Amino acid sequence: MSFRLFDAPLREPSQFVGFAGNRIDRQSENRADDSVEKALADPSVRLLLMHGGRLYLKLGGGGFDPWFSAEESQPLKVSLDRGVLLGFSDSGPVLAVPAGSDPEQLPETIKAIDYRSVYMQGLIDEAAAGAMAQGAALLAWHASHRFCSKCGAEAAMRAGGYKRLCPACATEHFPRTDPVAIMLTATREKCLLGRGRHFAPGMYSALAGFIEPGETIEAAVRRETLEEAGIRLGRVVYHASQPWPFPYSLMIGCFGEPLNEDIQADLNELEDCRWFFRDEVLLMLAREHPGGLVTPPKGAIAYNLIRAWADSAQDS
Ligand SMILES: [Zn+2]
Repeated sequence: MSFRLFDAPLREPSQFVGFAGNRIDRQSENRADDSVEKALADPSVRLLLMHGGRLYLKLGGGGFDPWFSAEESQPLKVSLDRGVLLGFSDSGPVLAVPAGSDPEQLPETIKAIDYRSVYMQGLIDEAAAGAMAQGAALLAWHASHRFCSKCGAEAAMRAGGYKRLCPACATEHFPRTDPVAIMLTATREKCLLGRGRHFAPGMYSALAGFIEPGETIEAAVRRETLEEAGIRLGRVVYHASQPWPFPYSLMIGCFGEPLNEDIQADLNELEDCRWFFRDEVLLMLAREHPGGLVTPPKGAIAYNLIRAWADSAQDS
């Protein structure tokens, strides 16, 4: 393998993953406690509406439109006081706002579709998918961090939704991003893929696990690969990252060089784990494998890791 820094393509690998197309200018340096109020007073404001892990989409023009004006959002029982300011697009401020209406009782022109399906089915463009990831992660964090974890009082949203402040003990709480290492262990000839118990039929993917406190990315990659597959790793190289709003992770994709071949899969975590040769992986990537085996779909960081390895091995 040769994933040397200065061999990197002009487009960073992270630009090819799903949710990476967010083009909102966050203007984080200008966030103030009245940012949401000011944005809502702007007639050009656009809202992403969310409810229980679903995004509201307007039907029309042969496609789906996730952007609502303030007026369009009114009948959907939106909680504007719980909206977060994502930032600014070319056409004005952009917010993510919890909607209150029952997703099963929406007008026929509006559908509430879960984030995963919106992303997997490519229902909205890359920029909107990136904004959805940003908004979904923030709203999920607020929903699960309503009370101060230090004293138990109800905290209040501040800084356009990028902070919660406890009125009782003055502790500030900031949104979480949970780092997850996802790694493709590979030699020039073969790579290591596993099947989780919840995977779609025939799907094999790169191994993954949460990075723990006090751990480097590389250490987490080595620990997870040893725990899940019994494979010890030598060199570990970072490749790309992907925001993953389920609910607020950052997937950090790496390659690892194996030091042993004999797999000892952790069958509590994995249904199967084995080596795949490049020819087989290319068929899986192309959805042409005779046994129906597949990699995760394009857009997933696992796909991009596997694709980069398969192409790199082919070039050399
Ligand atoms: Zn407190």
